[in-house]
Amino acid sequence: MQSTIAERLADVLERLGKQSLKIHADKEAVKLIAVSKTKPAEQVAEAYQAGQRRFGENYVQEGVEKIQALSHLAHMEWHFIGPLQSNKTRPVAEHFHWVQSVDRLKIAQRLNEQRPEHMPPLNVLLQFNVSQEQSKSGAEDEKALFALAEAVQTMPNLCLRGLMTIPSATDDQQALRQEFEAMQDLFLRLKSQYNQVDTLSMGMSGDWTMAIECGANMVRLGTAIFGERQTRAS
Ligand SMILES: *Cc1c(COP(=O)(O)O)cnc(C)c1O
Repeated sequence: MQSTIAERLADVLERLGKQSLKIHADKEAVKLIAVSKTKPAEQVAEAYQAGQRRFGENYVQEGVEKIQALSHLAHMEWHFIGPLQSNKTRPVAEHFHWVQSVDRLKIAQRLNEQRPEHMPPLNVLLQFNVSQEQSKSGAEDEKALFALAEAVQTMPNLCLRGLMTIPSATDDQQALRQEFEAMQDLFLRLKSQYNQVDTLSMGMSGDWTMAIECGANMVRLGTAIFGERQTRAS
């Protein structure tokens, strides 16, 4: 594939806009996170020049390095989307605008304590392990999820915005749809309890059209924009 990042981005945005219009009756309803993990800062800058402003990173140190290298670019919005260990929360609280992978109280508490006073509240999505696979992070059951939401809601330096999930890596479209629908149900219930909840983040390069059919209004695409990744150890 010899196409450029700008060409792939334009292609994704066109298809995304159509799907968004079809499902949400609004071309702009679905936000695109360009997942730049393992890709160099130069490629992020290339996507920025093509108009992209929201980026997702999975690894703390790599993400912070890119944020610092690209701090001259205005209106960047950085999303932390990877598994988060409690001893690595500080740099995330200090540099990112959103954290999509909050899955337990301890992480939320630390992010709230470590968010610098001069910065706006950190936007938070709670990650739910909808596939119930042992290997995946995310809150494991509904009760734990709603209890976590209640706790985050009281934290002044965090703003609860919604839910994120990574579904099963399955070819079974029916099973996948059921997981997305279960998330939509949880999201609508959470939204009815908390006014500021407005974001359902699901859908990656292989499954985003179905995710939007099931109500996603934020999708996280890496491969579709930046091309294949080399596998990484952690
Ligand atoms: C890597 C990653 C993505 C992007 O995956 P692609 O299949 O490359 O689009 C999205 N979300 C999370 C949490 C990821 O780790």
